[in-house]
Amino acid sequence: MAGCFSASRFFLNTMRPSKNRVYCLASRKLKLSFETKQKADNFLKFNAPEILSEKGKAPVRSYYCQLCCAWHVTSNSSEKSASSLDSRDEKLLDYFIHESGTAKTEMKRLASQIRERMRAIDVAMEMNDLSLARNLLRLSMNDLNLMKHMNPHSFLILRPQRQLSRRLKEIDMIEGK
Ligand SMILES: [Zn+2]
Repeated sequence: MAGCFSASRFFLNTMRPSKNRVYCLASRKLKLSFETKQKADNFLKFNAPEILSEKGKAPVRSYYCQLCCAWHVTSNSSEKSASSLDSRDEKLLDYFIHESGTAKTEMKRLASQIRERMRAIDVAMEMNDLSLARNLLRLSMNDLNLMKHMNPHSFLILRPQRQLSRRLKEIDMIEGK
């Protein structure tokens, strides 16, 4: 399999899958991940109805992800968008092969996204819009969790973690919690 290159093994190993979730660099989110198409299809068969009733949309097909070297499931039924996703993955794959330290690149992207949100949080707090500030904080915490999944020991996590929890305390204090 052309896509199963050593770097992606590296990602799988460093990204600490919890259960069978991995941080997928192609879709940039945590994805269920299966070793074989059959396992992914079995998952669809037995879990889709329940997921549908819980979330209002269910995964409908499985596909092979070249970056994870594994099978994911998706609720997107369109084969056309599937093939455009494939070509996107090819491009990403190329990029990752030729770019060293890609996990680090992605970590930096997330870190800078958190930094931007942090500025927005500060503005929201200045305007005393605490619910907006809390929402932005929650989004940033999600990004931080993704970073922890990718590399729990990275120094890139420390600063945003400190800054986010400081703001969380501030908001709690203002709200008297
Ligand atoms: Zn993937």
